[in-house]
Amino acid sequence: MRRVTRTVAAPEGLGIDVLSVPVGSELELDLRLEAVMEGVLVSGSAHAALAGECVRCLEPLEQDIEVDVQELFAYPESSSAEADEDEVRLLEGDLLDVEPVVRDAIVLALPLQPVCSEDCPGLCSECGARLADEPGHGHDVVDARWAALGGLLDADGSEQDGPEQDVPSGPSGRDVPAGSGTPDQDGSHGGPAERR
Ligand SMILES: [Zn+2]
Ligand SMILES: [Zn+2]
Repeated sequence: MRRVTRTVAAPEGLGIDVLSVPVGSELELDLRLEAVMEGVLVSGSAHAALAGECVRCLEPLEQDIEVDVQELFAYPESSSAEADEDEVRLLEGDLLDVEPVVRDAIVLALPLQPVCSEDCPGLCSECGARLADEPGHGHDVVDARWAALGGLLDADGSEQDGPEQDVPSGPSGRDVPAGSGTPDQDGSHGGPAERR
């Protein structure tokens, strides 16, 4: 039996869209190679760091993953190689390619829907705020018909509190025809005669 411990740069495709081992990051392999009747039995573990994002709130995720691998690499002329041609991995000369084995093990071990925490509430459907950051976040839900009534109320309010009724006093204000100038100008200059 031979033991192989090696750290390699992670190839592409170790993972799924939302969670994977970044390309080029460290992938630690700790493997045992055993010569058996049919070929070489590879077993051991692979360890790597994952990066991705929570599928609910898109928060970046980082976590480690360690997976067990075990695979028989069969001699091409062995009986098990002939029995399941599609299922069995073959030795290619003296080489065995563990990358697909490690890839399968990692992809199988990943959660399909990675989340930052099991009870992550996700994002606000109204404004996109991350709800885990803002407990009690919410919006006043207003029916469109009530919203129209709210608009009418606002219009009434502005008429009652409008500037027209705030400048009732002073004869100069009354001398000036409506629309000829702002109330401030009229007040400071006292009359139409002095206007430029
Ligand atoms: Zn989340
Ligand atoms: Zn919101």
